[in-house]
Amino acid sequence: MIDVLVVGAGPAGSVAALALARAGARVRLVDRAWFPRAKLCGDTINPGALAIIDRLGVGAAVRGRSRPIAGMRVTGPGGAAVAADYPDGRVGAAIERRVLDLLLLDAAVDAGADFTPGVRALAPVTDAESRVAGVRIRSAAGQSELRARLVIAADGRGSRLGAALGLTRFARWPKRWAFGAYFTDIDGLTAHGEMHVRIDGYVGIAPLGEGLSNVCVVRHAFRGHRDACAAIVAAASGADPVLRDRFRRARRVSPIVALGPLAVDATAAGCGGLLLAGDAAGFIDPITGDGVRFALRGGELAAEAALVELATGRAAHLELQSACRREFRAKRRLNRALRSLVASPRGVQVAAALATRWPAPFRVLIRAAGDVHLAHNP
Ligand SMILES: Cc1cc2nc3c(=O)[nH]c(=O)nc-3n(C[C@H](O)[C@H](O)[C@H](O)COP(=O)(O)OP(=O)(O)OC[C@H]3O[C@@H](n4cnc5c(N)ncnc54)[C@H](O)[C@@H]3O)c2cc1C
Repeated sequence: MIDVLVVGAGPAGSVAALALARAGARVRLVDRAWFPRAKLCGDTINPGALAIIDRLGVGAAVRGRSRPIAGMRVTGPGGAAVAADYPDGRVGAAIERRVLDLLLLDAAVDAGADFTPGVRALAPVTDAESRVAGVRIRSAAGQSELRARLVIAADGRGSRLGAALGLTRFARWPKRWAFGAYFTDIDGLTAHGEMHVRIDGYVGIAPLGEGLSNVCVVRHAFRGHRDACAAIVAAASGADPVLRDRFRRARRVSPIVALGPLAVDATAAGCGGLLLAGDAAGFIDPITGDGVRFALRGGELAAEAALVELATGRAAHLELQSACRREFRAKRRLNRALRSLVASPRGVQVAAALATRWPAPFRVLIRAAGDVHLAHNP
């Protein structure tokens, strides 16, 4: 019998599987995708996330495949701009998610997790007491059931397992969409990640090295069809007075990926037999660039809770809920406040006007978004 079945091998699932396998649990990890796989993301990990990766022993591998990010540069409409380094030489990293996620998955497999790609979770399987006892799956071999003493759903934003159990749902507001693509030859790149907040959304730019950059655009409303994606990215880069010059030589070198609506809310951290981790436990708006930190730490917390349940037989989802609330409440509040601010044209204008006169609070925000208090000195 498997002790823990982890569904989803993104950062949350791989870290949960890694921690469980290192603690001696029999772990099965499945994902519908084959790795390396792409994932729409801004491709930055903040200093707090890098600290977790270091603690897990994957830091050297990640640093070897990434570019250090020394801080953030944030601009607003009307030319407002604030840049701040993370304090005391702490850094985040810019790294393609197909690379990062494979490194974390490899670490989980090295620790003893049994990974199978190409396995899609269809629905939870429950026992006579309505406790989750496994997952119905589809793979190349057809449909079957995987049973386990516990299931960790780390199947990302809009978790199929979480939704089936009534634990997660798409938020009524805000209805935002994200579009991302890779570009070469954007001028004026530095060692800072970039966030350009505008009246109708925001544009993130991450310098990945060797002339390659990740560009993500988040827009408040999206009514058109997929062809509109190209127009949206072009508008964000070509029509923006601050970015226009910097994109003059730029070339898009990947298809445009679209995702939305973004916001998903979770009502609980799990239920009998199942724990949620990462985006499956509630989506973090990309404005603060810390979703991966939530996913890594959420994976660790889910693994800790699962180990307690395996050892004591005591249901762990309520403990996990308390642990997540303790660790994540303040940062989630900050994320929601910024999400509301950038959704309000008036709020963006006022913040931009304020930033030109009084940048200090915005520098504090950049450090808070980077979770620098969790990172150690280099
Ligand atoms: C536009 C955008 C930009 C972002 N930028 C940043 C950033 O710069 N920095 C940052 O820290 N965060 C960023 N984020 C957030 C970050 O991408 C997520 O928080 C993070 O990927 C969550 O990790 P996860 O492991 O929970 O989920 P995921 O990374 O989504 O992994 C979930 C896994 O589950 C698998 N899966 C899904 N459904 C099933 C199923 N039914 N059966 C089997 N497998 C399944 C998927 O294939 C996937 O591998 C961004 C998000 C968006 C949308």
